[in-house]
Amino acid sequence: MSAPQVLILGAPGAGKGTQSARIAEEYGIEHVTTGDALRSNKDMDISHMDTEYDTPRAYMEAGDLVPDAVVDAIVEEALSGAEGFVLDGYPRNLAQAETLADVTDLDVVLVLEVAREELIERLTGRRVCEGCGTNYHVEFDRPEEAGVCDECGGELIQREDDNREAVENRLDVFEENTAPVVEHYRDHEGFVAIDGEQSPDGVWADISAAIDERAG
Ligand code: ADP
Ligand code: ADP
Ligand code: ZN
Repeated sequence: MSAPQVLILGAPGAGKGTQSARIAEEYGIEHVTTGDALRSNKDMDISHMDTEYDTPRAYMEAGDLVPDAVVDAIVEEALSGAEGFVLDGYPRNLAQAETLADVTDLDVVLVLEVAREELIERLTGRRVCEGCGTNYHVEFDRPEEAGVCDECGGELIQREDDNREAVENRLDVFEENTAPVVEHYRDHEGFVAIDGEQSPDGVWADISAAIDERAG
Protein backbone atom coordinates (compact mmCIF):
# COMPACT_ATOMS: atom_id res chain seq x y z
CA MET A 1 0.00 0.00 0.00
CA SER A 2 1.26 3.50 -0.74
CA ALA A 3 1.26 5.79 2.30
CA PRO A 4 -2.41 6.67 2.96
CA GLN A 5 -3.65 10.27 3.28
CA VAL A 6 -6.26 10.18 6.03
CA LEU A 7 -8.53 12.85 7.52
CA ILE A 8 -10.12 12.13 10.91
CA LEU A 9 -13.13 14.22 11.97
CA GLY A 10 -15.18 14.25 15.16
CA ALA A 11 -16.18 16.45 18.07
CA PRO A 12 -13.75 17.34 20.86
CA GLY A 13 -13.36 14.14 22.92
CA ALA A 14 -14.49 11.78 20.15
CA GLY A 15 -11.16 9.92 20.28
CA LYS A 16 -9.33 11.54 17.33
CA GLY A 17 -6.01 11.91 19.14
CA THR A 18 -6.12 8.41 20.63
CA GLN A 19 -6.90 6.75 17.29
CA SER A 20 -4.61 9.01 15.23
CA ALA A 21 -1.60 8.01 17.31
CA ARG A 22 -2.35 4.39 16.51
CA ILE A 23 -2.99 5.07 12.80
CA ALA A 24 0.33 6.92 12.53
CA GLU A 25 2.20 4.10 14.23
CA GLU A 26 0.59 1.19 12.36
CA TYR A 27 0.79 2.74 8.89
CA GLY A 28 4.11 4.53 9.39
CA ILE A 29 2.66 7.95 8.52
CA GLU A 30 2.77 11.35 10.15
CA HIS A 31 0.27 12.52 12.77
CA VAL A 32 -0.50 16.13 11.87
CA THR A 33 -2.53 17.79 14.63
CA THR A 34 -3.28 21.48 14.85
CA GLY A 35 -4.18 21.21 18.56
CA ASP A 36 -0.73 19.95 19.58
CA ALA A 37 1.01 22.37 17.21
CA LEU A 38 -0.89 25.30 18.73
CA ARG A 39 -0.32 24.13 22.33
CA SER A 40 3.44 24.13 21.64
CA ASN A 41 3.14 27.68 20.29
CA LYS A 42 0.48 29.22 22.55
CA ASP A 43 2.37 32.46 22.95
CA MET A 44 3.58 33.00 19.39
CA ASP A 45 3.00 36.50 18.09
CA ILE A 46 0.16 36.44 15.55
CA SER A 47 -0.60 40.18 15.70
CA HIS A 48 0.69 40.72 12.13
CA MET A 49 -2.21 38.54 10.96
CA ASP A 50 -4.69 41.19 12.02
CA THR A 51 -6.27 39.05 14.75
CA GLU A 52 -8.38 40.07 17.74
CA TYR A 53 -5.80 38.70 20.24
CA ASP A 54 -2.03 38.76 19.79
CA THR A 55 -1.40 35.06 20.59
CA PRO A 56 -3.36 31.79 20.25
CA ARG A 57 -3.63 31.42 24.06
CA ALA A 58 -6.79 33.45 24.74
CA TYR A 59 -8.74 31.68 21.99
CA MET A 60 -7.64 28.26 23.18
CA GLU A 61 -8.33 28.77 26.87
CA ALA A 62 -11.89 29.84 26.07
CA GLY A 63 -12.33 26.97 23.60
CA ASP A 64 -12.84 29.30 20.64
CA LEU A 65 -11.30 28.77 17.21
CA VAL A 66 -7.87 30.28 16.53
CA PRO A 67 -8.04 32.44 13.35
CA ASP A 68 -7.87 30.54 10.05
CA ALA A 69 -4.70 32.26 8.79
CA VAL A 70 -2.76 30.82 11.75
CA VAL A 71 -3.96 27.21 11.43
CA ASP A 72 -3.91 27.22 7.61
CA ALA A 73 -0.20 28.08 7.69
CA ILE A 74 0.53 25.27 10.18
CA VAL A 75 -1.26 22.68 8.05
CA GLU A 76 0.21 23.78 4.72
CA GLU A 77 3.71 23.58 6.19
CA ALA A 78 3.14 20.19 7.85
CA LEU A 79 1.55 18.53 4.82
CA SER A 80 4.05 19.81 2.29
CA GLY A 81 6.73 17.42 3.54
CA ALA A 82 4.54 14.48 4.56
CA GLU A 83 4.71 11.06 2.90
CA GLY A 84 1.27 9.91 4.05
CA PHE A 85 -0.49 11.50 7.01
CA VAL A 86 -3.40 11.42 9.40
CA LEU A 87 -4.77 14.93 9.84
CA ASP A 88 -6.48 15.53 13.22
CA GLY A 89 -8.18 18.75 14.39
CA TYR A 90 -8.44 20.45 11.00
CA PRO A 91 -10.55 21.58 9.14
CA ARG A 92 -12.88 23.01 11.79
CA ASN A 93 -14.93 25.26 9.51
CA LEU A 94 -15.87 25.37 5.82
CA ALA A 95 -13.25 27.97 4.91
CA GLN A 96 -10.52 25.69 6.28
CA ALA A 97 -12.01 22.78 4.29
CA GLU A 98 -11.66 24.84 1.12
CA THR A 99 -8.05 25.65 1.92
CA LEU A 100 -7.34 21.96 2.53
CA ALA A 101 -8.82 20.99 -0.84
CA ASP A 102 -6.28 23.31 -2.51
CA VAL A 103 -3.38 21.77 -0.60
CA THR A 104 -3.88 17.99 -0.81
CA ASP A 105 -6.01 14.99 -1.80
CA LEU A 106 -7.55 12.62 0.74
CA ASP A 107 -7.86 8.82 0.38
CA VAL A 108 -10.00 8.26 3.48
CA VAL A 109 -12.23 10.61 5.51
CA LEU A 110 -13.25 9.14 8.88
CA VAL A 111 -15.79 10.64 11.26
CA LEU A 112 -16.01 9.38 14.85
CA GLU A 113 -19.59 9.71 16.12
CA VAL A 114 -20.12 10.13 19.88
CA ALA A 115 -23.06 11.64 21.82
CA ARG A 116 -22.61 14.92 23.71
CA GLU A 117 -23.04 13.51 27.25
CA GLU A 118 -20.29 10.96 26.61
CA LEU A 119 -18.03 13.69 25.16
CA ILE A 120 -18.38 15.77 28.33
CA GLU A 121 -17.40 12.79 30.50
CA ARG A 122 -14.44 11.99 28.32
CA LEU A 123 -13.10 15.55 28.17
CA THR A 124 -13.49 16.42 31.84
CA GLY A 125 -11.76 13.12 32.78
CA ARG A 126 -8.97 13.39 30.19
CA ARG A 127 -5.35 13.50 31.37
CA VAL A 128 -2.45 14.15 29.02
CA CYS A 129 1.25 13.35 29.33
CA GLU A 130 3.28 16.51 29.61
CA GLY A 131 6.25 14.77 28.02
CA CYS A 132 4.90 12.86 24.99
CA GLY A 133 1.24 13.91 24.65
CA THR A 134 -0.27 10.44 25.18
CA ASN A 135 -3.95 10.61 26.26
CA TYR A 136 -5.39 8.90 29.32
CA HIS A 137 -8.70 8.99 31.15
CA VAL A 138 -9.26 8.82 34.92
CA GLU A 139 -11.85 6.07 34.43
CA PHE A 140 -11.73 4.74 30.87
CA ASP A 141 -7.98 4.57 30.24
CA ARG A 142 -5.91 4.60 33.41
CA PRO A 143 -2.11 4.48 33.42
CA GLU A 144 -0.44 1.66 35.38
CA GLU A 145 0.70 4.12 38.02
CA ALA A 146 -1.62 7.05 38.84
CA GLY A 147 -0.39 10.35 37.37
CA VAL A 148 2.54 8.78 35.48
CA CYS A 149 2.77 8.10 31.72
CA ASP A 150 3.17 4.43 30.73
CA GLU A 151 5.08 5.42 27.60
CA CYS A 152 7.70 7.84 28.90
CA GLY A 153 7.32 8.25 32.68
CA GLY A 154 6.18 11.87 32.21
CA GLU A 155 3.68 13.62 34.46
CA LEU A 156 -0.03 13.46 33.56
CA ILE A 157 -1.80 16.81 33.64
CA GLN A 158 -5.25 18.19 32.87
CA ARG A 159 -5.45 20.50 29.87
CA GLU A 160 -6.47 24.07 30.71
CA ASP A 161 -9.45 23.83 28.35
CA ASP A 162 -10.76 20.52 29.76
CA ASN A 163 -12.81 22.28 32.47
CA ARG A 164 -16.60 22.11 32.29
CA GLU A 165 -17.13 25.66 30.99
CA ALA A 166 -14.58 25.53 28.16
CA VAL A 167 -15.77 22.01 27.27
CA GLU A 168 -19.38 23.16 26.85
CA ASN A 169 -18.19 26.05 24.68
CA ARG A 170 -16.00 23.77 22.53
CA LEU A 171 -18.97 21.47 21.91
CA ASP A 172 -21.11 24.48 20.91
CA VAL A 173 -18.34 25.72 18.60
CA PHE A 174 -18.20 22.24 17.07
CA GLU A 175 -21.95 22.17 16.43
CA GLU A 176 -21.93 25.59 14.85
CA ASN A 177 -18.69 25.53 12.81
CA THR A 178 -17.51 21.95 12.37
CA ALA A 179 -20.71 19.91 12.03
CA PRO A 180 -21.20 21.53 8.57
CA VAL A 181 -17.68 20.35 7.68
CA VAL A 182 -18.69 16.76 8.43
CA GLU A 183 -21.73 17.19 6.15
CA HIS A 184 -19.47 18.68 3.47
CA TYR A 185 -17.35 15.49 3.41
CA ARG A 186 -20.27 13.05 3.49
CA ASP A 187 -20.22 12.75 -0.31
CA HIS A 188 -16.42 12.72 -0.54
CA GLU A 189 -14.74 9.60 -1.90
CA GLY A 190 -13.54 7.43 0.97
CA PHE A 191 -15.96 8.85 3.59
CA VAL A 192 -16.70 6.42 6.45
CA ALA A 193 -18.77 7.08 9.61
CA ILE A 194 -17.53 5.13 12.63
CA ASP A 195 -19.34 4.37 15.90
CA GLY A 196 -16.98 6.15 18.30
CA GLU A 197 -18.76 4.90 21.43
CA GLN A 198 -17.21 1.44 21.17
CA SER A 199 -14.10 0.51 23.17
CA PRO A 200 -10.84 1.95 21.79
CA ASP A 201 -10.03 -1.47 20.28
CA GLY A 202 -13.49 -1.71 18.72
CA VAL A 203 -13.10 1.73 17.13
CA TRP A 204 -9.63 0.78 15.92
CA ALA A 205 -10.96 -2.40 14.23
CA ASP A 206 -13.41 -0.33 12.18
CA ILE A 207 -10.81 2.32 11.35
CA SER A 208 -8.13 -0.09 10.17
CA ALA A 209 -10.67 -1.98 8.04
CA ALA A 210 -11.78 1.31 6.44
CA ILE A 211 -8.22 2.39 5.67
CA ASP A 212 -7.22 -1.03 4.30
CA GLU A 213 -10.26 -1.11 2.04
CA ARG A 214 -9.99 2.41 0.69
CA ALA A 215 -6.26 3.06 0.54
CA GLY A 216 -5.08 -0.51 -0.11
P1 ADP B 1 -10.02 14.06 20.75
O1 ADP B 1 -8.61 14.06 20.22
O2 ADP B 1 -11.04 13.72 19.70
O3 ADP B 1 -10.37 15.28 21.52
P2 ADP B 1 -9.04 12.03 22.66
O4 ADP B 1 -8.44 10.94 21.82
O5 ADP B 1 -8.13 12.94 23.35
O6 ADP B 1 -10.12 12.84 21.79
O7 ADP B 1 -10.01 11.32 23.73
C1 ADP B 1 -10.71 12.09 24.70
C2 ADP B 1 -10.72 11.34 26.03
O8 ADP B 1 -11.53 10.16 25.91
C3 ADP B 1 -9.36 10.86 26.51
O9 ADP B 1 -9.32 10.95 27.91
C4 ADP B 1 -9.28 9.40 26.05
O10 ADP B 1 -8.47 8.62 26.92
C5 ADP B 1 -10.74 8.97 26.14
N1 ADP B 1 -11.13 8.02 25.08
C6 ADP B 1 -10.67 7.96 23.80
N2 ADP B 1 -11.28 6.96 23.11
C7 ADP B 1 -12.17 6.38 23.98
C8 ADP B 1 -13.13 5.31 23.86
N3 ADP B 1 -13.27 4.62 22.70
N4 ADP B 1 -13.86 5.01 24.95
C9 ADP B 1 -13.71 5.71 26.12
N5 ADP B 1 -12.84 6.72 26.29
C10 ADP B 1 -12.07 7.06 25.23
P1 ADP C 1 -9.93 18.69 21.06
O1 ADP C 1 -9.14 17.64 21.77
O2 ADP C 1 -10.94 19.36 21.89
O3 ADP C 1 -10.49 18.20 19.75
P2 ADP C 1 -7.64 20.18 19.99
O4 ADP C 1 -6.47 19.75 20.78
O5 ADP C 1 -7.79 19.63 18.61
O6 ADP C 1 -8.97 19.91 20.82
O7 ADP C 1 -7.70 21.77 19.89
C1 ADP C 1 -7.55 22.58 21.03
C2 ADP C 1 -7.82 24.04 20.69
O8 ADP C 1 -6.90 24.48 19.69
C3 ADP C 1 -9.21 24.31 20.09
O9 ADP C 1 -10.20 24.47 21.08
C4 ADP C 1 -8.92 25.61 19.31
O10 ADP C 1 -8.84 26.73 20.19
C5 ADP C 1 -7.53 25.37 18.75
N1 ADP C 1 -7.57 24.72 17.42
C6 ADP C 1 -7.11 23.47 17.10
N2 ADP C 1 -7.31 23.20 15.80
C7 ADP C 1 -7.91 24.31 15.27
C8 ADP C 1 -8.38 24.66 13.97
N3 ADP C 1 -8.30 23.81 12.93
N4 ADP C 1 -8.93 25.89 13.80
C9 ADP C 1 -9.03 26.76 14.82
N5 ADP C 1 -8.63 26.50 16.07
C10 ADP C 1 -8.06 25.29 16.30
ZN1 ZN D 1 4.46 10.27 28.03
